[in-house]
Amino acid sequence: MATGKVYLVGAGPGDPKLITIRGLEALRKSDAVVYDRLAAPQLLREVPPHARLYYVGKRPERHATKQDDINRLLVELALEGLTVTRLKGGDPFVFGRGGEEAEALARHGIPFEIVPGVTSAVAVPAYAGIPVTHRDAASSFLVLTGHEHPDKLDSAVRWDKAAGAAGTIVVLMGVANLDHICRRLMEHGRPPDTPVALVRWGTRAEQRTLEGTLGDIARKVKEADFKPPAVIVIGETVRWRRELQWFERKPLFGRRVLVTRAKGQAGELSARIDELGGEPYEYPVIETRLPESEDKREAIRAALARAETYDWIIFTSVNGVDYFFRWLGMCGTDMRRFHRARVAAVGPKTAEELKSRGIVPDTVPGKLFQAEGLFDEMKEHVRPGMRALLPRGDLARDWLPEELARLGVEAVEIDVYETVPAAPRDDRLVEWLEQGRIHMVTFTSSSTVHNLIAALGKLGVEDPAGLLRKADIACIGAVTAETAAAYGLDVGVIANPSTIDGLVKAIVDYYANAKR
Ligand code: SAH
Repeated sequence: MATGKVYLVGAGPGDPKLITIRGLEALRKSDAVVYDRLAAPQLLREVPPHARLYYVGKRPERHATKQDDINRLLVELALEGLTVTRLKGGDPFVFGRGGEEAEALARHGIPFEIVPGVTSAVAVPAYAGIPVTHRDAASSFLVLTGHEHPDKLDSAVRWDKAAGAAGTIVVLMGVANLDHICRRLMEHGRPPDTPVALVRWGTRAEQRTLEGTLGDIARKVKEADFKPPAVIVIGETVRWRRELQWFERKPLFGRRVLVTRAKGQAGELSARIDELGGEPYEYPVIETRLPESEDKREAIRAALARAETYDWIIFTSVNGVDYFFRWLGMCGTDMRRFHRARVAAVGPKTAEELKSRGIVPDTVPGKLFQAEGLFDEMKEHVRPGMRALLPRGDLARDWLPEELARLGVEAVEIDVYETVPAAPRDDRLVEWLEQGRIHMVTFTSSSTVHNLIAALGKLGVEDPAGLLRKADIACIGAVTAETAAAYGLDVGVIANPSTIDGLVKAIVDYYANAKR
């Protein structure tokens, strides 16, 4: 078998969007991914469904996998012929032992590529509003590891040189040795009033910043029980934070929000949360797919075969449009065969989807974007004996075809897609819910409530509702809220109006009124 290939990829400091395009491409074509705790779980969603995932970081109950074992794992996977991504926090060659992993690969003659990443040494200060250089204060920066035992650190770092070598000193893995590091820098000439900032879990919802000086920061860290991982920034540029702080000032900063919508539909909600400084965590519990039953498939083919007979095609969802066109493609049907049909769309989103395919709908309701509004708009134009094609999902309501039938219109319903529960694999969702690291859970339909409860059950949670009570609950409308309440969930936020915009606004208001 041909040898595979290993990509040593920098995942960036935490915010999943800080991976590089090349890094993302590697993930998307991998057969196996080897990762540790600094990699954002959201990134693992990008791997193909067949890919094997190997966690080699620390777990509460056991130590991290040894470096030799990681090296061996990478070699073995590549020898199996797989495309492997070794996903590493920040940049793979900055204190990540990426150099050793690359060496092991080189020694075994395994092809590899290095995909540099955004290092926490620069990005984490940036998210705290601290530039590592500034024309007025620092024309260089030095990045140090503070990891070693203090004695070893003293032999590894020439403090006399380091103290004066650069305007800004950035220390990674240095929280435990902070006191020692500060003393050495002061002994070698850095003034005790030099500003220092520690930034913990930078670029993530958990980002916290603690400021002090070389003289007092170690005491402050102890008092605040400030835990690693953190980046330590030492130097005058720390003062710029007062003016340049930006991330921590966003309205949803610090809030991690679970998005349970179907993959294709989650984007808009996630993007809005992200823009407002929150951290969307997508866990789609719904999936759409082509209908499984051969009877349904046959009915669709038969309905499309009579394309010329329809007076109307009525689209009541974006998915309906999307799947309708997939079916046209699969049946080799040309859209122009529907030349007699007028086209109706339930609302602006559905209309947009049609326009993107070169079809401008004849009818779109003015304000009520649901079946009732669409029917009001259409009813003047329909006559007994007309035929209407309704490409929909299997869960669509019967109301519209029934009303059309009442007017003597023959409504041909085809379930071009079906909606099924999904429970994607995820090794951190339950852990993060337990630890209170998911702050809000959003539900955009009753089925998202039912399915999340079921998905948590599948992940081995005994009391899913109890687990979800650790988070705040936001629902898109009254019906969804009732469903959630029936499971014993305490719904803190109900959108008004019942749209994604309304939901986002309600979440922002909720947190504006809540204490941090
Ligand atoms: N290769 C990584 C560094 C690995 S060493 C990089 O280029 O960023 C691990 C150390 O990096 C941690 O102990 C911490 O000091 C720092 N670090 C990485 N990500 C961080 C984050 N999001 N917030 C704070 N510190 C981080």
